[in-house]
Amino acid sequence: MKRSVYFDYSATTPLDKRVLNKMLPYFSDVFGNANSQHGFGRNAACAVDKARDGIAAALNCAANELFFTSGGTESDNFALRGIVKANTGKRNKVVLSPIEHDAVLSCVKDLEKDGIKIEYLNVGKDGIVDLSSAEQIIDEDTLLVCCMYANNEVGTVQPIKELCRIAHGKGALIFTDAVQAFPSIKIDVKDLGVDLLSVSAHKIHGPKGIGALYVKKGVKIDGIITGGRQENGKRGGTTNVPSVVGFSEAVEILEREREENNAYILSLKDRFIERVEREIPNARLNGDRERRVVGNANFAFLGIDGESLLFKLDLEGICASAGSACTAGSLEPSHVLISMGIEEEIAKSSIRFSFGKENTKDQIDYCVETLKKAIEELSAVPLFKGESIDKKV
Ligand code: PLP
Repeated sequence: MKRSVYFDYSATTPLDKRVLNKMLPYFSDVFGNANSQHGFGRNAACAVDKARDGIAAALNCAANELFFTSGGTESDNFALRGIVKANTGKRNKVVLSPIEHDAVLSCVKDLEKDGIKIEYLNVGKDGIVDLSSAEQIIDEDTLLVCCMYANNEVGTVQPIKELCRIAHGKGALIFTDAVQAFPSIKIDVKDLGVDLLSVSAHKIHGPKGIGALYVKKGVKIDGIITGGRQENGKRGGTTNVPSVVGFSEAVEILEREREENNAYILSLKDRFIERVEREIPNARLNGDRERRVVGNANFAFLGIDGESLLFKLDLEGICASAGSACTAGSLEPSHVLISMGIEEEIAKSSIRFSFGKENTKDQIDYCVETLKKAIEELSAVPLFKGESIDKKV
């Protein structure tokens, strides 16, 4: 029987059955519109309030500092566009890392068209933002500094506390996209010091299409979706009650089980890295070895085309990814690896494996064996260097 092995937890995670069970009544029995004034509405609103309280407590913020959205992409857009819209003054610069998720990068490019100045921080070969570039670039014109907490491709954890100190020292606000950090890193917004922070439920075994943005009390932000008074007037649209309830349940489970999951997932990742480095010549780990989230191993297999390798793995039932799911299908090399100073050919030979709590040691071993076989087969074929087919014949 063909095996099926999922090593793409950074793209999304399976819904936890406990989360599903918590959500089910809110599709049928408790179906009211949380904005309606009658009993049906109040029952739904009560569930939303409870969910907001729970998630806010987990992040160590107040319930009215937390806004539900349709996920990480919307939260990122809300943070960037909402801050720029609400703060029209002398400060007109956004400083960001070049390894942000596309949700941030393309949003910022839009803002640039509207006259916002953009400057990028430097990132080292280790996949970590260089703080000295932050000291140089962040200045009195900077409105917002934006740097993800953990990178989605190489898993590197960024020095957010230090960036907060630099940003606040210059009177700028700071936003972090914590979508990839949240599954394995305990988040305390007060301790971290950020002004805005985004999270998404489907990376933590919650439902897809729901996320949240934390906005520190006192920070001026405009909504970007109009059409209703929901979310304190900042986000119009009927509240997705089942998903809000599911999100909160996923957070509750995560907070209870994170440590245990982390230890288990780390043991799988360590086994994978150790075996790949020992048994596959020319395999090189991308990103800092220590300062990375527990579930990420991103490898360059020098001299091998990453897409072809992924295809071969998929034929054997192993699901991994080249770059992030959101940029999959693009022929461009990963912008993250290129920003880290990695050569284009090496970037194109790179694959992200991301592990989760349902994975097993046996799956790791199967993957390593399959990788060895696939690489041997691909090594026999001369690497297609990108010349046009016409030129080749
Ligand atoms: N930010 C990061 C770092 C991500 O990895 C992702 C999804 O992969 C997103 C934002 C987008 O989140 P969502 O899929 O909930 O829109």
